[in-house]
Amino acid sequence: MGTIKNPIYHFLAGILFLLSFSDANAANTDKSLPIFDAHIHYSHDVWDAIAPEEAIRRLRELGIKRVMVSSSSDEGTQRLYQAAPTFVVPVLRPYLKRGTIENWMYDETVIPYLNERLMNYRYAGIGELHINGEQAYSPVMQKIISLAKQYNLLLHVHSDAKAIEFIFKQYPDARILWAHAGFEYAVIVGKLMDKYDNLSADLSFRGEIFNGKSVMKAWSILLERHADRFLLGLDTYEPQRWLNIKPAMQWQRDLLDVLPVEIAKKIAFENGDKMIRFYDDKKNNGKYLGVE
Ligand SMILES: [Zn+2]
Repeated sequence: MGTIKNPIYHFLAGILFLLSFSDANAANTDKSLPIFDAHIHYSHDVWDAIAPEEAIRRLRELGIKRVMVSSSSDEGTQRLYQAAPTFVVPVLRPYLKRGTIENWMYDETVIPYLNERLMNYRYAGIGELHINGEQAYSPVMQKIISLAKQYNLLLHVHSDAKAIEFIFKQYPDARILWAHAGFEYAVIVGKLMDKYDNLSADLSFRGEIFNGKSVMKAWSILLERHADRFLLGLDTYEPQRWLNIKPAMQWQRDLLDVLPVEIAKKIAFENGDKMIRFYDDKKNNGKYLGVE
């Protein structure tokens, strides 16, 4: 098409642009939805670059109302928690530093570390921890499962589908938040959710399920069918990620925008609120009540 010089065309095109722009705004009712972020890390290599108050300011700026935080080491989580105790929900990570995700489950020193932390601080869960298949039966992981039982903690698990099944075999009442929905296909996530009522999943780093305009068919069906089980998460797994939380949040907001509003609300914050209700109920003048 050649250049259109007709000024009326430009005038009309301008009006059309304004109309479509304001239409888009009208549909974006989700822009103000509060967000519960289930997947934040504040690890040792971020502390020096971003102070706790600044990290919290950046998260709040995105409309986040509450965050589940786990860090390598746990000191990062405690620093954030001290800065904003009602904003941060601490989750205990079994790693002292980055780089242990492949072999931590064979390191017996993890157990006294977890015991010590659980005795001195209050948590909603243990994780995010990385495990696959039969590693779920390693002695360290077995101990973690028994600690989750003892302290009534949820497990934030980055794993394949097999490990999820193996954890439920050992602890049928486990409450599991499956990080990244295991990077699994919708059909597999759906089958596991059908089977285990206490299985939820976060959608962090699942860019492929939503291209910015539409949700993959299998996923839109699953998000509707199990609308009570999905949560959002920025997953600030490395310092660089802290610099990219705005576009990551934009992707999440765009996803919420195309979902029916009732489902969007659940995924944005209602499911998160529900998931940690037991943790909030357990508050006793800020003192950890320990074993249920
Ligand atoms: Zn993570």
